[in-house]
Amino acid sequence: MAPRAARYVVVGAGIHGLSTAWHLARELRARGQDEPADVVVLDKTGVGGGASGIACGVVRNNYFQPAMRRLMAHSVSVWESDPAAFSYHPVGYLQLGPEAMRAGVRQIYQEQQAIGYRSTLVEGEADCRAYMGDLFPDWQAEGISCVLHEQQGGFANNRESLRGLAAKAEAAGVRIRTGVRVTGLDVRDGAVRAVVTDQGTIPCDHLVVAAGPWTRDLWAMLGLPDTVPVRGADGGLQDRAMWTYWLVQEGTLKVDPATFTDARGGPPPVVHVDSDAPLFDEDGEPVTAEPWGIYYKPDANFGGVQGGSLPRRIEEPTAEVAVDPYGPEQSAYTAGADFARLWTAGLAHCHGRFREARRLLSPEPSGGIGCFTPDSFPVFDHFLENAYVIADSNHGYKMIGVGALVAKELLGEPQELLAPFAFARYEQGRLHPTSSSPFPWS
Ligand SMILES: Cc1cc2nc3c(=O)[nH]c(=O)nc-3n(C[C@H](O)[C@H](O)[C@H](O)COP(=O)(O)OP(=O)(O)OC[C@H]3O[C@@H](n4cnc5c(N)ncnc54)[C@H](O)[C@@H]3O)c2cc1C
Repeated sequence: MAPRAARYVVVGAGIHGLSTAWHLARELRARGQDEPADVVVLDKTGVGGGASGIACGVVRNNYFQPAMRRLMAHSVSVWESDPAAFSYHPVGYLQLGPEAMRAGVRQIYQEQQAIGYRSTLVEGEADCRAYMGDLFPDWQAEGISCVLHEQQGGFANNRESLRGLAAKAEAAGVRIRTGVRVTGLDVRDGAVRAVVTDQGTIPCDHLVVAAGPWTRDLWAMLGLPDTVPVRGADGGLQDRAMWTYWLVQEGTLKVDPATFTDARGGPPPVVHVDSDAPLFDEDGEPVTAEPWGIYYKPDANFGGVQGGSLPRRIEEPTAEVAVDPYGPEQSAYTAGADFARLWTAGLAHCHGRFREARRLLSPEPSGGIGCFTPDSFPVFDHFLENAYVIADSNHGYKMIGVGALVAKELLGEPQELLAPFAFARYEQGRLHPTSSSPFPWS
């Protein structure tokens, strides 16, 4: 049942909506301002009904952009605050790359040291091979010139972590209402007066949009434009589409998880390999002439090894992209044969134990779409008089801490860590730096 009214209505029971609601309720309580009807989370399906519920769950710091790294370090501290409740596995994270990435990865390492994020850097092909061989006796990838080993981070089990977060939110007094669809917003005189749902209208003082892949739709309900002027390096402004969609391509290898351990038989770190080495499939045919990248980790949901490769841009006009049904149920947007070939060839390239990866790939549909901003980095900002939009540009299952910062901003305390993600950066040309790496994710 939809509530009659609420001071704060949060749309979306994914990682951001739940984290924001939980932290907001705690802040209100700490300030002696909480009332039973303060914070309500609405979700049209259920807790984890969107991207957070299908995320691979990788938690890493490795970004070229300093603002992203600082934000990730903050989020890792939230994951570390209660690993059991968040089903968080602090196994660490490995970024491997070829010579073309070495300088950029070294810079990331140096800046991680400066902010106290624990990591190790290995450089040079021979040393990288020895380091990886110590971790995995069957390691066989050639052409790796840098290894950044983050000792923090790892992965979390998506649905269990959301259940843990929802329990914390409810214990703090948040009301989570599932099966309630927001169909419109009553916007008058520059403010959201009420949230219109399929179960009635809810007057509110503040709205938080945490709708993941559905951000496009809530954005339109707020009456915000579907293009944004972006100032380029030459100082000129160019209109860009506010939202585009990309397909995150992932899959699962049906292997006994006991076979995917490190050399000591312990849980391995998450592995992310970017490479420009030739890649061949199981028939010895070349898979791609481009640089390629894959990541993988143990899959706690079904057992096995789960991972992915580069996302693929969806070419349909943004307005026509069907977000529902979401995830593997959306047959138009699931990982396809090209993904299967590349990801399994990549696994076989790296590990002797995965030489038969192609045969072991689960046939179940997998993957899902994400809603990306003009520069593919998050927007966390106030809009109108009383709305806040959390649009993570699909970076965000790992960003469990963003809600803690948003809660403070909602209570009138601007957060330095969020400032680089203000919407005004587009028009002002204050964009995040991009690396010279040939890989789009670094
Ligand atoms: C296949 C895949 C793998 C990924 N892997 C990773 C990873 O390993 N690590 C990582 O950091 N990130 C990963 N991501 C990205 C990450 O999942 C997202 O960035 C993040 O989960 C977004 O969280 P959210 O809370 O904003 O949205 P969501 O989790 O999508 O939640 C939004 C919620 O809003 C609800 N909703 C939408 N519209 C309405 C409405 N009108 N009325 C009511 N409710 C509504 C939906 O039902 C949904 O539950 C992955 C994404 C995908 C697709």
